[in-house]
Amino acid sequence: MDIDEFDDFKIILWLILFLLFGIVIITCKPKNDDYVMTVNGRETPGKMGTTLEHEHILVDFIGADSTGYFRWNRDSVFTAAEPYVNEAKARGVKTIIDCTPSFLGRDPMMLKDLSRKTGVSIITNTGYYGASNNKYLPRSFYDLTPEGLAAIWTDEFKNGIENTGIRPGFIKIGVNPSDTLSPEHLKIIRAAGMAHLATGLVIASHTGPDSPAFAQIEVLKELGVSPSAFIWVHAQNGTAEGNIEAAREGAWISLDNIRNRTDLKPDDRGSLEWYAGRISALKEQDLLNRVLLSHDSGWYDPSQPGGGQFNGYTDIFDYFIPLLKLKGFTNDEIDQILIKNPAEAFTIRIRKYQKN
Ligand SMILES: [Zn+2]
Repeated sequence: MDIDEFDDFKIILWLILFLLFGIVIITCKPKNDDYVMTVNGRETPGKMGTTLEHEHILVDFIGADSTGYFRWNRDSVFTAAEPYVNEAKARGVKTIIDCTPSFLGRDPMMLKDLSRKTGVSIITNTGYYGASNNKYLPRSFYDLTPEGLAAIWTDEFKNGIENTGIRPGFIKIGVNPSDTLSPEHLKIIRAAGMAHLATGLVIASHTGPDSPAFAQIEVLKELGVSPSAFIWVHAQNGTAEGNIEAAREGAWISLDNIRNRTDLKPDDRGSLEWYAGRISALKEQDLLNRVLLSHDSGWYDPSQPGGGQFNGYTDIFDYFIPLLKLKGFTNDEIDQILIKNPAEAFTIRIRKYQKN
């Protein structure tokens, strides 16, 4: 080749090298598109910080036929809840997951206002709550197929709840604590599985005992949904063995009624000592990475004068963490449960289950 041809060859070689270098840079760059969905929009999971994964700002127990936004005054709810959210914020809480489902007092606009004014991130939900014998299911539920239900919940995620533009960050459902799932509750968990596959939203199901937890996990697996897309809400009402087995499968174990109850003795089920024992049992099996903690506390109740007695969101910080430290839990282990696990659980990601 002559000199000109050699120069052309060198230029082409440099171009190829440059392209290869670019491809390497693009493919090696850590993927940073993970997100959670708060009432104020997308947020990086790493920014969630200390998170209370199951609390309530407002609950209206009157039933699906009778509830509606007319039942409460947003300013009154705000005034009642704000000091308690700020108390939690003063303990380091950066995110509160509001577990009040639709037809039970879910009010995205009120949550958004509260979040903006307190600076605490709040996540709301989509889904239907079948527990309490279907009292909170709207009449339209009975005419819908699982696909139809999933379409409603998926639409809320894609287009926002009603006309608020506020999008849910998880699917909240509920089933009765019975041994087998009723046809209605089977429909709900199927719909939740389908909506998960369409959206990547994690499914938090008010469940309680072992049997309905495993029944739901089986339905999800049949649909090709990983147990890691399932939060077993009120897992404290299941057995330690059940919690361990579900956690080994990848499910999230939500121990969520942690309150400093002076009416209980240390040995009583539900005491702080008892909860510490349950978490220690999971820790011994190396399953702390599946544990979620909360108070299941709050809330403004529109049927009570002034919203009734509001219980705060601070017992975990004032009583329970000190107890865990006495039991030998390290700061890293506590951060795992209150920061890392919620960030992982609520990251919006489709989790598929590979059937054998
Ligand atoms: Zn609750």
